[in-house]
Amino acid sequence: MDSTRALPGSTRALPASTRALATEAVHAGRDDLARQGLHAAPIDLSTTYPSYDSRGEAARIDAFATTGAEPEGPPVYGRLGNPTVARFETALARLEGTESAVAFASGMAALTAVLLVRASTGLRHVVAVRPLYGCSDHLLTAGLLGSEVTWTDPAGITDALRPDTGLVMVESPANPTLAELDLRAVVHACGSVPLLADNTFATPVLQRPVEQGARLVLHSATKYLGGHGDVMAGVVACDEELAGQLRQVRFATGGVLHPLAGYLLLRGLATLPVRVRAASANAAELAGRLAADPRVTRVHYPRIGGAMIAFEVAGDPHEVIAGVRLVTPAVSLGSVDTLIQHPASISHRIVDADDRRTAGVSDRLLRLSVGLEDVEDLWADLDNALGRVGVPPGARELGRVSAP
Ligand SMILES: *Cc1c(COP(=O)(O)O)cnc(C)c1O
Repeated sequence: MDSTRALPGSTRALPASTRALATEAVHAGRDDLARQGLHAAPIDLSTTYPSYDSRGEAARIDAFATTGAEPEGPPVYGRLGNPTVARFETALARLEGTESAVAFASGMAALTAVLLVRASTGLRHVVAVRPLYGCSDHLLTAGLLGSEVTWTDPAGITDALRPDTGLVMVESPANPTLAELDLRAVVHACGSVPLLADNTFATPVLQRPVEQGARLVLHSATKYLGGHGDVMAGVVACDEELAGQLRQVRFATGGVLHPLAGYLLLRGLATLPVRVRAASANAAELAGRLAADPRVTRVHYPRIGGAMIAFEVAGDPHEVIAGVRLVTPAVSLGSVDTLIQHPASISHRIVDADDRRTAGVSDRLLRLSVGLEDVEDLWADLDNALGRVGVPPGARELGRVSAP
C-alpha cells in the first residue's frame, strides 16, 4: 500500500523544511513509508488505475486540464502522473528549495517541455548564454520547437530582451568549459523574464539557483542525481504554477519518466551529498596536479568546486582519450566512475565549429568527470595517458588553474 497513491499531492503540501540537505536527501519523498510499515519505496508499474466512478474521473481530468495540479485521489493514467515518480519529484523539490518538480524521460525532454510551455503563451523568444550543453545549444539554434534564440554574453542579456522573450537560459558551471556566472546578476538583468538555470553540474549540494532568483532549475538527472550511469531522466524544479503547465505539456507530449527510473533516482538522491562531496575532493586534488603538470597547458576548475574538470593539453587530446585504462573514455558524467571525453568530437559535436570555439570549447579541451575511485589510482592512469601526449618543445611552461 502506498499512501501517495491516494493523496499524490500530500507530501508537496508540507511546510518548508528545516532539515539539513543531507537529511532531506535520505528522507524526502519517503516520509509516509514507516507509517505504512514499509522501508523501501514501492515501485508502482501500473499504466492505468481502476475507477467505478467515471463522473468523478471526468471532474478530476477537468481539474488537471485547468491547473495541471496532480489529480486528487487515486492516479488516473501513467501519463498524468505516477506515485513512484512523484516521490522523486517531491524529494528533488525539497533539495532545490522549490514548491514542485516535474520529471521527464531525459534532460532534453525536460528542456523541450519548458520551451513548449513558454511558446504556448506566445513568448517564443529565448535569450541564452554560451556555452550550453551541446544538444541544448542545438535545440535552441535549430529552432526545432518554433523558438527563436538570441545568443549573448551575460552583459548583453538586458539589451537582448524583447517583448516576446519568454525565457533566459544559462548553465553555471557550464558544460563543458565549467565557465561560471554570477546568477544573481543574471537574474537582475532578466527583469521580469524567468531565468532557467541548468544546475546539472553543480547539483543542489553545491548551489541552489532559486535562492539566487532563478525561476526554473533544470537537471539532466541522467548525471549526478541518478549517479550510477544507469538511468536516463530529466527534471525541472520550479514554483507550482509553472509545474502545473509543465505537467500539462508532459501529458500532451508524452515525455514521461518510467517508474523504475523514478525509483532509481530516489535511491540515487539518498547518496547525492556524499557522492558529490567525495568526488569533488578527488577532483580538487586532480585539478591541482594537472595544473602543475608541464604536459597540461590549462585547467578549468570551478570556484564552487564540484567533480568536473576541463583541461587542455599541449599535444594531441585524442591520445589522452586513447590512453586511459581505469578511466572510461565515454560521454556523459556524474557517475560513480571517472569518465573522460573530448567535447569538440562528442558532447558538443552538434554545435557549429565557429560557435563552439567562440564559446571557449577549443579543439584541445578535454572534460573529465571525476568519480569515487582512489585518487592515486586515478592520477596514475591520467599520468600514463598524458605520457602518450608528451611535452612539445617550447611548451614547458606550467599549466595554470583559471577561474573562467
Ligand atoms: C546531459 C546534459 C543535458 C541533457 O540531458 P539528457 O539527460 O542527456 O537528455 C542537459 N544539460 C546538461 C548540462 C547536460 O550535461
